[in-house]
Amino acid sequence: MEFKELFCTNCKKVVGRYNIKFYDEIKIAEVLNTTHSEHIKNGHHIVIRKFVKD
Ligand SMILES: [Zn+2]
Repeated sequence: MEFKELFCTNCKKVVGRYNIKFYDEIKIAEVLNTTHSEHIKNGHHIVIRKFVKD
């Protein structure tokens, strides 16, 4: 299975992991702006990484 991992470079941790089967780019951007808006408000930088798990 392939996931998109949201990694906050300020907190240095993964804040979310989403199965690409259910979350496309648009959906992930949406989650980023809602669920993880606190990081962004605090000026944190979140990068999207690919994560593969069997
Ligand atoms: Zn953060």
